[in-house]
Amino acid sequence: MDLKRRYSQHKQKIGSLGFITTGSLIKVYKTCGNPGCRCHKDRTKRHGPYNIWTRKVNSKTVTRTLTDEQAKLVQECINNMRKIEKIIEQMKDTSVRYIENYLKDFKVDKNSQKL
Ligand SMILES: [Zn+2]
Repeated sequence: MDLKRRYSQHKQKIGSLGFITTGSLIKVYKTCGNPGCRCHKDRTKRHGPYNIWTRKVNSKTVTRTLTDEQAKLVQECINNMRKIEKIIEQMKDTSVRYIENYLKDFKVDKNSQKL
């Protein structure tokens, strides 16, 4: 396939994706602050699951607890981010191939280069 066409297909794919975010989403169970609570005696009685979203902001980890509904949105944004990162890798490959083809058309005369 023509490299320019492939490249514009990558751009179209990125354009069709929604919001993006970094980070990861995990479900965790927690013990509470009440020492008499059953969550302290039985691991299966811990509270949760809680949706925890962590991400790096200026090299610091930011943590948010989300409702199931909020977690759905964040998971979608994380998935979009991963898709975009994959597409960008493909765009870089396609670009390098395009550049290499372009460079092949111009042979450098080594004698004319000044060092
Ligand atoms: Zn508890």
